[in-house]
Amino acid sequence: MILVLFGPPGAGKGTQADALKDRLDLLHLSTGDILREEVSKESELGLMAKKFMEAGELVTDELIISMIKNKITTETSGKGFLLDGFPRTISQAHALDAMLKANSLKVDNVVSLEVQDSVLIERLLLRGRSDDNEETIKNRLDVYKNQTLPIKEYYKDLGILVEIKGDDSVEIVSENIFKAL
Ligand code: ADP
Repeated sequence: MILVLFGPPGAGKGTQADALKDRLDLLHLSTGDILREEVSKESELGLMAKKFMEAGELVTDELIISMIKNKITTETSGKGFLLDGFPRTISQAHALDAMLKANSLKVDNVVSLEVQDSVLIERLLLRGRSDDNEETIKNRLDVYKNQTLPIKEYYKDLGILVEIKGDDSVEIVSENIFKAL
């Protein structure tokens, strides 16, 4: 199974991914986690990505697409996987489809976590990661609305999107996702 966890920053994608990967035996691929690891290693990719992440901007499609392609090729080896934080633009969604199609695969389900802005802002401020300050959060929410949200329609048209209310407790959200799948 190939699953995309979709939603704004602070929607709980990482938290839900952790629960789902065990329940469904999927490999969890989080582009945010992979990038943060590259930044801490001070790799070439990390150094290029850092300034975008600190500003709450998207890292370029070119960098992200080659990074995820590499991970999918080297780490999934026939096992199902769960994408968290990718795709985040329409070009990333198209690139994902193309790379899967080349291996006779496709995205099976997209779970969209629905949470209102005021709750997102509250959660992100509490989380307190280095890019979780008020100004960056505002920018990330704008970027989400302008560049990422259009993907939802794309997956809706393909008939593979399920919307899940994301402001219930972790356990309830997790149960609702599981039932919907
Ligand atoms: P959040 O969901 O809270 O925004 P992530 O950990 O998913 O956090 O992402 C952190 C940052 O990493 C983003 O603000 C962005 O700069 C970068 N990033 C992650 N995934 C992508 C992606 N698919 N395309 C472009 N940039 C990305």
